[in-house]
Amino acid sequence: MVQLSDIIDARRRISDVIEKTPLVRSVELSSRCGVEVFLKMEHRQKTGSFKLRGATNAIQQLTEDEKKRGVVTASTGNHGRAVSVAATAAKTRATICVSNLVHENKIAGIRRLGADLRIIGNSYDEAEREAERLSDHDRLVMLHPSDDPAIIAGQGTIGLEIVEALPAVGTVLVALGSGGLSAGVGLAISSLRPGARIIGVSMERGAAMKASLQAGHPVEVEEFPSLADALCGGIGLQNKLTFNACQSLLDDVILVSEEEIAAGIRHAYDQEREIVEGAGAVGIAALLAGKAAALKGPVVVIISGGNIDMGLHRRVISGDRNILQ
Ligand SMILES: *Cc1c(COP(=O)(O)O)cnc(C)c1O
Repeated sequence: MVQLSDIIDARRRISDVIEKTPLVRSVELSSRCGVEVFLKMEHRQKTGSFKLRGATNAIQQLTEDEKKRGVVTASTGNHGRAVSVAATAAKTRATICVSNLVHENKIAGIRRLGADLRIIGNSYDEAEREAERLSDHDRLVMLHPSDDPAIIAGQGTIGLEIVEALPAVGTVLVALGSGGLSAGVGLAISSLRPGARIIGVSMERGAAMKASLQAGHPVEVEEFPSLADALCGGIGLQNKLTFNACQSLLDDVILVSEEEIAAGIRHAYDQEREIVEGAGAVGIAALLAGKAAALKGPVVVIISGGNIDMGLHRRVISGDRNILQ
């Protein structure tokens, strides 16, 4: 498994490329929740999400031979964008497989970066199978979006920044998809602040890690469209790392509805003046819905990304309920 030392090494490796993002106290959420609440502004990271940390850490460690072959990955959008940027920086080629569910703004973001983009199937899991096929067929290096030690260590650098900025951190709310962010941040925080609670937050429909934790082993779930599109997709029945990490590191997993996610996006905009995508807003959504009980302060909410289609954002802000179907 990944060690704290791997996360510290990752930070050294990626520090020239990534932004150290601000940790900002939320006046509104602090007064509402009765504890100090801070927002880790990872939606201001380059590429618009934290995914650049893991992708850069992984790609910088490729051998010359692997760089010649190029990398392939499957993505719900943000990882693909990050891999495209990291691959260009390392002078290697990236092939990104995405499903038809991925929003046009995220597809355009990847295409602009010059990656070889393949749109295939109707779920993340189908896109992942295509990435695996290409990896076998074309000898490309498969880079899983979360279940990879270098990816986990890269995402874990957020945990180091949180502890340095706020040594007394009591609770961290982490958006939970296939668990790379939770594994990395959980590992860093639990190593440096053993008493702190780590809480994962996912959308209600298609929460693969939650279902797997309940079953006691990785299970497949049906994938649905969600405002938190970056959290969709399975954890893989052959999951190597993130399932065990989430099982041992997460104190709880909270599920939020589409309506609650919309309220989170609106709060971020109206009160915090931040444009946040659905997956980036689930921690705020959990707080607003009162679903994170008996909070131990100070609380840090990781705002994981901001790559929302602006047309969709306007509809969420204006309270359009048709988007919640
Ligand atoms: C990928 C992603 C997540 C979830 O990360 P996992 O490692 O899959 O758990 C959360 N928020 C955003 C914005 C993401 O892009």
